[in-house]
Amino acid sequence: LKKDTGWNFDNSYARLPEVFYSKMTLNPVSSPRLVKLNQDLVESLGLNKEQLQRQESIQVLSGNDIPEGGFPLAEAYAGHQFGHPTMLGDGRAMLIGEQITPAGERFDIQLKGSGRTPYSRGGDGRAALKPMLREYIISEAMHGLGIPTTRSLAVIATGEQIVREKDLPGAILTRVAASHLRVGTFQYAASLDSKEDLKALADYAIDRHFPAIAKDENHYVEMFKEVIKRQAALIAKWQLVGFIHGVMNTDNMTISGETIDYGPCAFMDSFHLDTVFSSIDVQGRYAYGNQPKMAGWNLARFAESLLPLFHDDVEKAVELAQAELYEFNTLYQQHWLDGMRGKLGLEGEEDKDAELMEKLLGIMQNNRADFTDTFRSLTLGEIDKMELSNNPAFMEWYKAWKERIDRQEGGEENAREQMKRHNPVVIPRNHRVEAALHAAENGDLSVMEELLQMLSNPYAYTKEQIEYGVAPQQVNPSYQTYC
Ligand code: AMP
Ligand code: MG
Ligand code: MG
Repeated sequence: LKKDTGWNFDNSYARLPEVFYSKMTLNPVSSPRLVKLNQDLVESLGLNKEQLQRQESIQVLSGNDIPEGGFPLAEAYAGHQFGHPTMLGDGRAMLIGEQITPAGERFDIQLKGSGRTPYSRGGDGRAALKPMLREYIISEAMHGLGIPTTRSLAVIATGEQIVREKDLPGAILTRVAASHLRVGTFQYAASLDSKEDLKALADYAIDRHFPAIAKDENHYVEMFKEVIKRQAALIAKWQLVGFIHGVMNTDNMTISGETIDYGPCAFMDSFHLDTVFSSIDVQGRYAYGNQPKMAGWNLARFAESLLPLFHDDVEKAVELAQAELYEFNTLYQQHWLDGMRGKLGLEGEEDKDAELMEKLLGIMQNNRADFTDTFRSLTLGEIDKMELSNNPAFMEWYKAWKERIDRQEGGEENAREQMKRHNPVVIPRNHRVEAALHAAENGDLSVMEELLQMLSNPYAYTKEQIEYGVAPQQVNPSYQTYC
């Protein structure tokens, strides 16, 4: 008995004005093979695991065949890349359809690495196996950490070599997203100089992500506010786990509030605000400590795109935008403070809490202490094992922190319980990710499977995780990542 794969498409994006996308024909690959399938996600999307592993489904996930009800398209968008406005669009991806899940949710099903599109510019539209597996690992890690993110359904090896500095095995990642609407999509809409098209896009975004505000009086300003809220919450979550996105261009900032585009991203080992991993970010524009500021910058570009919808009078529109932009900083600060309270186990609010947090981070930075390990060790009460335990400034801080904790109802024990929920015991450390990818490239997926297993619930504090998650003996100070 042949059961259905479970594709249940309704393609709302294709109902937007045609300027927003290009309909795609397929760019078939020669011998696709399923490398990795996300069992958890398969189920929540309402798909059938057995069917998905059959050859017909692999043809779909490799872009060789259109599933029933699918409508392959490449989205048009623009974006500021490292501060410079650029026309972009899906240059190596296509949306095959929007899956409506059994729970009634809508998700974009996108193939990344599926070949050239009208937006490819000079590129070949293809992707290599290692970076696609890397996106799989990091996006699933983010999900495990409770951070809004696009997810990864599958990785397919295409059986073809792609031309880079040296030839590499090609791959296609199936990306699942609440949508692929970006700040850059609005920048593109604004560049069309058609209020009608801009409005169509904004109405679409509201309908898809913020239906509750559809009837509000100034719902375009409300939408801006909602995006600000989600981004403030998101960026704070990144900072609190030491995640560095690496390429926060406006085309890589979503309207949904999900983290998107896992290229040169990485988690920080040693704490320093200036940390940069991306080989192309030579100025440190997207350094760890700059992320909140860059998010604000991107949101200002978003506001500029929306001005014609805010008010007919430009000055009034700018005033409205600016008032909301200020809110971003306030909201971000609040989320960060709340998160740091969680990380340090502080209950209630005391005047000197912010100072206590800043002081610790200063000591960590001066000593290049491992970010995750420092909070983990505090959580586990393993002060003697800490690299900072010989440091007088740290020990003085520790005394002040202990006093703060002891004043609380529930004391240290309760604080520790709270800390366990805020301090991951394991993150996708660079050396672990590299080892997993190296083995996978040589046909051994077991290292990656172990890593994914550890990352699936990074707050469990199992004995295995505690051992597995420790900082490397030696951090590679020149670790670099690539787009
Ligand atoms: P990113 O830095 O990943 O946000 O990508 C920026 C732009 O470059 C997007 O429009 C991508 O679709 C496009 N792009 C990246 N790699 C390729 C490629 N190999 N072929 C065509 N377009 C690409
Ligand atoms: Mg991108
Ligand atoms: Mg990318």
